[in-house]
Amino acid sequence: MNTRPLLNRRLDGLGTTIFAEMSALATATGSINLGQGFPDTDGPAEIAEAAARAIHDGRGNQYPPGPGVPELRTAIAEHQQRFYGLTHDPDTEVLVTAGATEAIAAALLALLEPGDEVIALEPFFDSYAACIAMAGATRVPLTLRAPSFRPDLDRLRDLITPRTRLLLLNTPHNPTGMVLTPGELSAIAALAVEHDLLVVTDEVYEHLVFHGAHHPIAALPGMRERTVSISSAGKTFSFTGWKVGWATGTRDLVTAVRTAKQYLTYVSAGPFQYAIAEALRLPDAYFDGFRADLQRKRDLLGDGLRAAGFEVYQPQGTYFITTDITPFGEKDAYAFCRALPERCGVVAIPNSVFYDDPDAGRSQVRFTFCKKDDVLHEAVSRLRSLSS
Ligand code: PMP
Repeated sequence: MNTRPLLNRRLDGLGTTIFAEMSALATATGSINLGQGFPDTDGPAEIAEAAARAIHDGRGNQYPPGPGVPELRTAIAEHQQRFYGLTHDPDTEVLVTAGATEAIAAALLALLEPGDEVIALEPFFDSYAACIAMAGATRVPLTLRAPSFRPDLDRLRDLITPRTRLLLLNTPHNPTGMVLTPGELSAIAALAVEHDLLVVTDEVYEHLVFHGAHHPIAALPGMRERTVSISSAGKTFSFTGWKVGWATGTRDLVTAVRTAKQYLTYVSAGPFQYAIAEALRLPDAYFDGFRADLQRKRDLLGDGLRAAGFEVYQPQGTYFITTDITPFGEKDAYAFCRALPERCGVVAIPNSVFYDDPDAGRSQVRFTFCKKDDVLHEAVSRLRSLSS
């Protein structure tokens, strides 16, 4: 038998995603799952009905067009115009993908050569590390540090080398809840222009900014021609299982991303694409109500976690709260999260797995608040037993 390892070197060490591991633990122990970020309430009934109608009407049941159905591409272009004043040709500058996950994978596989360096905000959503590795590129972390998690822009300048090809951004940022300010975005954009870098920006939590507003970097001077913007219907409309995402950018960038995307899934989610086209056109009241509801849940969980003894880093966006477990005399977030279901029947995610720098996030634990109020209340009351 050939003794060569089955898993290739690029994927070595990536193991099972922490979300699968912790969700399995939640199921096995019957715990409340505040780990993986999926809502326990589905999105608007009329959008679910639109998907059912599309299936019954035979729309999207066979392979939809490679770039996505025209109705959805048009709705995405309208959404970018309506919220950010960005203009995109729906036929050439919008690509529908199997969630943001595929858009990220396709963008990185399309735009990177082996040996390129990618600077990414650390802690990073775990698919970034995997996709950079699959592209044969090297990740270079710009570490966000507690308590503010603001990016150190002098450090960013120092990290740029002749091999740097791409900046991989995420705002609002998972897991820290940090939202890049207009000033930070301008400084990052200036560096990208100065060093002729591409930018891939993951904005899946664009409608969950609690303080200020979401600012897409693609709108800044000099950025349109170098930015691939990525988002997803999963978070904004609470249909994470539909996996409808998209990428927008110039024709050249979108063509490059589509080239890789064609050979990943080719197409996906036909009938759901029609439904998301309707969702994107919902009135402002939907988007405002969604954000207000999640902000209330953030405060409910944040207050509860503080009362239970955690150090809480207030998120400005997303549906996650990062905490520190040092007040419990604990230092190892992974060990803490492994033991938590047994100790009190709650599942959370250790941020330490999202850092290359093992010290930076060693004692940080992430909880999601996209759950029903009574679930959050019950989780908080269970967590209070930790300090008793
Ligand atoms: N990016 C970030 C930052 C996320 O948190 C998630 C979902 N947890 C994704 C991308 C994936 O989005 P999708 O489900 O649309 O693939």
